[in-house]
Amino acid sequence: MTVPALTLNDGRSIPQLGLGVFQMEPGDTERLVGEALAMGYRHIDTAAAYRNEDGVGRAIASSGVPREEIFVTTKLWNRDQGADSAHRAIETSLEKLGLDHVDLYLIHWPRPDLDLYVETWRAMEAFRQEGLTLSIGVSNFTPAHLGRLLEETGTVPAVDQVELHPAFAQTELRKFTAEHGIAIESWGPLGQGKYDLFGTPAVADAAAAHGVSPAQIVIRWHLQNGLIVFPKSSHPERMRENLDVFGFELTGEQMAAIDALDSGNRVGADPDTATF
Ligand code: NAD
Repeated sequence: MTVPALTLNDGRSIPQLGLGVFQMEPGDTERLVGEALAMGYRHIDTAAAYRNEDGVGRAIASSGVPREEIFVTTKLWNRDQGADSAHRAIETSLEKLGLDHVDLYLIHWPRPDLDLYVETWRAMEAFRQEGLTLSIGVSNFTPAHLGRLLEETGTVPAVDQVELHPAFAQTELRKFTAEHGIAIESWGPLGQGKYDLFGTPAVADAAAAHGVSPAQIVIRWHLQNGLIVFPKSSHPERMRENLDVFGFELTGEQMAAIDALDSGNRVGADPDTATF
């Protein structure tokens, strides 16, 4: 199974579909990520805050898959913003992962109340120069936060990883990032199971028409929108299903019906007010 790759604004390539490991039990992560790599996943999205970087690292080490074939993302947690703390944080993440570099390092949340994200972004530029990460990006940044980074540093993030799914489609942010060449990664792509996305006629009818599952329909919607996506599952049969999305295509009409589910309501925290 070949997952298509997208080219980021720094010239590096990223598999458009991967596996997210938020809320994957630390004790299960090595086994589950190992299964994912064996079934063909080549992109893993973790974070210091998920407490499972070491399991991801062990799975990579024992997978037999060459390191350069696996795209690994991790993220700087909020309390580690600021130049010195950020440096310690990336070193700790690399040690836990057992890697000498990650493919992508992200500022996890802007935390505008701390007012440290510009300083942190400058540290991220240095990490890339030092080879600790090949690409740098942000997560949960709004157009206002991105605008400030661009204005004060001139360095455009390769990606912005944000909550994005049919019920919260982020049209304004997507317009801004398209204008600036920033790729979007959709977190909570299936809506985190927090409402009945799969039961909506737009999704259920498309699933029936293509003979696939509702989850596969929603993943296709992300892919056909040019978004990078890494649904999370701790069940190997669902991981396999989520990867098996390249044998069909949604029609323009099916895409439009799913687009119409956008309610503008988040299921997660608001980046402007989150204080965790
Ligand atoms: P998700 O939308 O991927 O939902 C995951 C849930 O969907 C699973 O727990 C399961 O209940 C269900 N599911 C998965 N596959 C299914 C299938 N085939 N059929 C039926 N149900 C299925 O939510 P998520 O895990 O929050 O998001 C994906 C990834 O995004 C995370 O693992 C993490 O890597 C990233 N993330 C990042 C942030 C951030 O702040 N940057 C926040 C949340 C998540």
